[in-house]
Amino acid sequence: MINVREKYLGSNDKMSFMDRIYLPAIFKGMFVTLKHMLFSKSVTTQYPEEKRVIAPRYRGRHVLKRDEQGRERCTACYCCAFICPASCIRIVAEEVTPEIQHNHPGEKYAKVFEIDLFRCIYCGFCQEACPKAAIFLEDIYELAVDSRDKFIIGKDVLVDKKGGPRKIRV
Ligand code: SF4
Ligand code: SF4
Repeated sequence: MINVREKYLGSNDKMSFMDRIYLPAIFKGMFVTLKHMLFSKSVTTQYPEEKRVIAPRYRGRHVLKRDEQGRERCTACYCCAFICPASCIRIVAEEVTPEIQHNHPGEKYAKVFEIDLFRCIYCGFCQEACPKAAIFLEDIYELAVDSRDKFIIGKDVLVDKKGGPRKIRV
């Protein structure tokens, strides 16, 4: 029978005394550790006091945007919900009445806009499909909550507090 250890690694008998006591290898490893401790730049982030620098193309939690006049950009066209591969967007559209026209530029608006963050795979398709530049996956990554229900977020969480110019996709 072939002794695999002997064939590929050599016999134990061929190990020198130093190999057998392992100490040189241990000290060599500890020297590498010590060298990194003393001379390498730390890569640890002191979270949460210190926040990570996020890449410009990072896809975190969604935000529903407002325009320059503070109106909601979303016109409830359902493109995002249609394209979503995880079927995690739920929209209920409603006609815009004169009383709420100041907040909604289109004929329709999303009365309900919910995203199930547990189902979402953060692919960014909704952002790509939106013809109004109304939905973006931004650098929000602090998503911890204390119950599963809270992962279904609605307009109270999603809609941006203030408006601004049309955001360019990166
Ligand atoms: S990021 Fe992808 S999975 Fe998540 S809501 Fe948008 S389209 Fe759906
Ligand atoms: S977020 Fe954009 S794609 Fe989705 S319903 Fe609103 S306007 Fe349409």
